[in-house]
Amino acid sequence: MGDPGKGRCVHCRADVAVPDAYQHGDHVKCGQCGTRHKVARSEREGVRLVLADVAPLREALTANQLMIGRLEDELRGARHSIGLGANGLGIGVLYLIWQVALKEMPMSADLMWRGVMVGVASGIGLELLNYVALAKRKAMRRISHDLDDARAEARALQLKIRDASRV
Ligand SMILES: [Zn+2]
Repeated sequence: MGDPGKGRCVHCRADVAVPDAYQHGDHVKCGQCGTRHKVARSEREGVRLVLADVAPLREALTANQLMIGRLEDELRGARHSIGLGANGLGIGVLYLIWQVALKEMPMSADLMWRGVMVGVASGIGLELLNYVALAKRKAMRRISHDLDDARAEARALQLKIRDASRV
């Protein structure tokens, strides 16, 4: 229930005096920031102010939706490159199976030495893959977070636009 005779600026939240003579749909300006509003009078909510001009909101919404599209692209890109990393890992495993099982190399000190080298090399490789995957997971978390923010912002803008369009 709004204070009778008073509304609140949608932009800066300052109180705006709304004299009784102002009818539903009349325009009133915020004394603090100059934002133009329309007066909304209803039994249930009393006096409320909605934006008179939703063009800036629509522009903000358009910019916001472009950003959501860009973030979704980034997220797809990050997911895709993780898939490539996993493919590289699979190829490494196949190479080892081919060396040991299919070439049936006889056991020797030389082969054991090479086994150790392969173990160390793939260990380093796995660590690097792990590091890269971790960095990507972090990036994906950041992008997801930005995406959530942008979607919340879009919902807030759509709500304000719908609100203003009803008066
Ligand atoms: Zn204001």
